[in-house]
Order: sequence, then C-alpha cells, then structure tokens
Amino acid sequence: MEQIRNFSIIAHIDHGKSTLADRLIQQAGMVSERQFRDQLLDTMDIERERGITIKSQTISLPYKSKSGEVFELNLIDTPGHVDFSYEVSRALASCEGVLLLVDASQGVEAQTLANLYAAMEHDLTIIPVINKIDLPSADIEMAKEQIETELGLDSEHAVLCSAKEGLGIEDVFEAIVSRIPAPSGSPEKPLSALIFDAHYDSFRGIIVSCRIFDGRVRQGDVIRFMSNGATYRVEEVGVFRLTREPRSELRAGEVGYIISGVKTLSDTRVGDTITLDKNPISKPLPGFREVKPVVFSSIYPISSDDYPSLVDALEKYKLNDAALVYEKDSSVALGQGFRCGFLGLLHLEIVQERLEREFDQSIIMTVPSVQYRFTLTDGSVVVVDNPQYYPDPLRIKKSEEPFIKASIMIPERYMGAVMKLCMEKRGTNPRFSYPTPGRIEILFDMPLSEVVFDFYDKLKTITQGYGSFDYEMIDYREGELVKLDILVNGEKVDALSMLVHKERAREWGVQVCDRLKEEIPKHQFKIAIQGAVGGKIISRSTISPFRKDVTAKCYGGDISRKRKLLEKQKAGKKRMKMVGSVMIPQSAFVAVLKTK
Ligand code: GDP
Ligand code: MG
Repeated sequence: MEQIRNFSIIAHIDHGKSTLADRLIQQAGMVSERQFRDQLLDTMDIERERGITIKSQTISLPYKSKSGEVFELNLIDTPGHVDFSYEVSRALASCEGVLLLVDASQGVEAQTLANLYAAMEHDLTIIPVINKIDLPSADIEMAKEQIETELGLDSEHAVLCSAKEGLGIEDVFEAIVSRIPAPSGSPEKPLSALIFDAHYDSFRGIIVSCRIFDGRVRQGDVIRFMSNGATYRVEEVGVFRLTREPRSELRAGEVGYIISGVKTLSDTRVGDTITLDKNPISKPLPGFREVKPVVFSSIYPISSDDYPSLVDALEKYKLNDAALVYEKDSSVALGQGFRCGFLGLLHLEIVQERLEREFDQSIIMTVPSVQYRFTLTDGSVVVVDNPQYYPDPLRIKKSEEPFIKASIMIPERYMGAVMKLCMEKRGTNPRFSYPTPGRIEILFDMPLSEVVFDFYDKLKTITQGYGSFDYEMIDYREGELVKLDILVNGEKVDALSMLVHKERAREWGVQVCDRLKEEIPKHQFKIAIQGAVGGKIISRSTISPFRKDVTAKCYGGDISRKRKLLEKQKAGKKRMKMVGSVMIPQSAFVAVLKTK
C-alpha cells in the first residue's frame, strides 16, 4: 500500500488536463510512440469537440521513481460540468490528492477555484502545477502570485511543466509520489469499496470502477451493494491499464474494476458501497445520493416510421447512461415518442447528439421542463413534468415549483452584474461570503426552471468565464403557474407548450415567438407565430414568405449544381418536422429556451 498513489487532475477548461494525462501515460512507459494518440482519455467525439469530459476514465500507471522505488499511480479522471458534479465528488472521494493545473499564460480562472473547493471538501493534498511554460506569453511569476493570493496555496512548491512539450514531467511524477500520501486502510478489515464509475461492455456486462478502502475482493467472492442489498458473484477483478488487466485480487488502497454479472447500469449506483455478503461492514461509506433527473423533455422520431428503431436505440443508449430515464409518451403534433428525464440541459444535449451520431436517429426533442406540483380542489396532488398534463386551471388549488440553492463564485468586480442576473431569474434571499480576498460566494434561492436552461451560459458570459456555479435542490415553493401555448399558423403545437410562472409568461412568450421566427425557414406563404395563455394571445411574430424559387436560377444551367442544391434541401428536410403545413427544424424546440 505504501507504493500506491490515488490522484486526479483538476483544472479550468483548456489549461491542459487531457494533455497532461496523456503525457503521464506516455512517460510512464505504457504506450509506444506509435500507439500514442492525442488525448487518450477523452474518447468520445462529443467530448473532444466540446472539450469537456463527460464520462470519466481511470488508468493505473506504473512509475519507477528517481530513488528506484516502483509505484502504482492511479489517475482518476473527472467529468467537467455542473450537471455531473455528483460524479466528480465520488471520483475525488476516491483520491488522496490532486494536481491543480494552472495555465502559465492565463493564470487562475473561475473553474480553478471551483475545483479547488471541491478538492478541499475531501481533505485532499493539493499540488499546484503551472502548465504551458513553453508559451512565449507564459508568466510564471504572475501564476505563482495568483496561486498565493487567489487560491491561498503555497506557490513555492508549485511544479512547472509543459505537458505539450514534455518538460518537467518527471517533476510532476516525483511530486505525486513524494507529496501525496499513500492510502490508509487495512486489507484485513471487512471489504468496503466505493463505486465511482460504471460502464457497460457488450461482452462482459457492467464494469464497476471502484476504490477499495478496506479489505480485499477476489474472483468467486459474493459481494453486496449496500444501497439495495443486491448480491453478485465476482467473475473478475483487475486494474485499468490501456485495457483491463485481470488480477488475482484487489485490496485496500487500490483502484480497479469488478465484473460480477450485473446486467444493467440501473442496478449499479455511483457512490454506492460494495461489501462482502458473508462479512459485511455495518455502515456504508458516506456521501451516497440517489441521482435524480431534473429536466424533462420528450423525444420523437422525425419520421414516425422510425419509431421502432428509436425504441431500440434508446434501450442500447441506456446501457451506458444510467442517469437517463424514459417512458412512453405521445403528442398530437409529433406522434409516438418517449418522455425522458435528464440531469440538466447539457446532459439533454449530449443524449440528443449521441442518439444522432452514434445511433443514427433523426429526432425531435420538445421544450424542456422541470417537475411541478399541483394540489387540486379535491385534495389530490399531481406531479407534472409534461405541459400536456397541466391540470384544468379551475381545479387547481395550489401550484408549486422546485427551488434550488444556487452557489455562485465570482471575482468581486462582477458582483453587480451577477446580482442583476439573479434577480431577473427570480432569485431571493441572497447571502454572501468571502472565501478568499477579492472573491465572493453568493448564495441565492432560485426557481429551478429559471436556472436549468440558460443561466449557466449567461453567467459565463457576464463574468467573462470567471463565474462558477453549483446548485442543490431545496424544496417546492408556491407560485402561480400557467401554461403557455404556441400557435404556428393558428395551429397549437403541443410540443412547444411550456409551464411558466405567471409573472414571466409574457416575457417567455415574446422570446419563444422571436426565436421561432429565426429558427423556422421562410415558406411560400406568410407564417404567424403566437403565444397564448388560456386562449388569450400574449405575443406574436410573423415570418414573411420568400419571393424567389431557389432552384429557378439553376434551370438550364449546370445540372450537377442543381442536383447538389436539391440534395442539400432534402438533407435539410430530414431534420425538419411538418406541423400542419409548416416545416419546423429539429433544433427549434430546444433552441426557444435559449436567449442569445
Ligand atoms: P483541458 O481542457 O484542460 O483538457 O485542456 P487540453 O489538454 O485539451 O489542452 C487545451 C489546449 O492547450 C490544447 O490545444 C493543447 O494542445 C494546449 N496545451 C496543453 N498543454 C500545453 C502546454 O504545455 N503548452 C502549450 N503550448 N499548449 C498546451
Ligand atoms: Mg480535456
């Protein structure tokens, strides 16, 4: 156990986390130059494009130190978005230390600080690492000073490196082995292992990633998941190299995987504790939380013939994403589909993109909603996440919406702008604290519906990227809720309906009409778009018809050019949905919620 180090790398986006991870893997001598490809750890396309890690991956690196000792370094990767903050907390709970990466030309930024706080919550050893020292614009002194003043860390022992050029990598390794403590715990005690990740493998079923705190586990053991008491016989244990490498056992201090005949991700819960059935521990490890969806939207195939294939795609997708929940749904405008629950708007967009790219589905997602609660005149309570099931307003005695405690961390200078944004979003009960000089943490009670859609993006914009944001649900609070309907050419499009606070209905109505005006292409005829509450029109916009036939100029001209144009139009149509006589692009339904 003395030779094990469990750590994670945390950083503001683009400060070089993936590059450093790859460099450590390469330098640890596990991959030849030929095998080495950029950003080994971020595997999914979407992750690369968006530069965020969605699904964390873990790797064990053998390292021979300067003094000749051989260590096992377990690098636990963490997802990088507020939708996945629970997963981050479980990954950090599995470590003893972190490398806090700071870009030498950018210095400390918002996410550096947010990540630092997360690491401090778990009492981890924090090693500041200044990266990109090869850049001409690198300012090491500035970075050091910010590490002192803004993070309150000792910068004297900051490690300097260039992940890209491979400079200072040995110093990083030496800092890991000399400064991060070895794990404690005892292999002789009963087994307690923390699940920090899990994924589906089509040959082996569910592969659980875990950190062993006490005890040992080997093939043939019967293990028990403490959250639900389910038991399984262990088929294989091992560690993560570039591929899985089986071992005879995993023991206290180690990080690795367990395969045990678990068939679906829904049977495994990140944060759960694994113990041995015949010699269990009495209390699970702290911090377990059931992850619940907070944003709901329906998925429909663009062409109703594709419904069976969507059923199939969702089943397969779900194998790799336990956080997605779904059930059947139907809509007048869109036909048969599914109502789905997501962790947040980013999670929703990821599901949408992956269904399209990896499963080749052409889908439409309806306007996202949170879950509202209505007490009816007969005393019964209904929970509604789908505007379709909005009860008859005459029967509603009380309407309630979910509230969160929002925690926003910003440099002092953005205080005014952020306060204004929070008030606009119906924030109440502001509280302030000053964790470090020049920084403010603002706590607000806010309606979840106001923040899940475009709050995060707005906050980023007004704070020039320095604002960080986290939230937790607190309770349901009374508020007058109404249903906003959208009419396109006089026809109500149920997939565009939304539940909103009465005070905000007009504002939303105007926004949706304006956004649809931009999203819906011109047709041969004039299209009226209207927002209505209880039959009363509260907003409107008009799309004027187009004048010229687009293909007209090609007639008699170059035939291949004409074909290309038609093909382009056809591809465009594939991502449109006919609603009455109007084509609505797929993107419109989610886009209406986003301000620009
Ligand atoms: P992440 O978002 O923290 O994972 O950052 P990446 O590892 O994806 O790096 C962001 C960008 O910075 C990429 O274009 C990298 O090539 C670049 N980068 C990373 N490390 C260095 C470095 O040490 N020097 C220079 N010049 N560029 C770097
Ligand atoms: Mg990255």
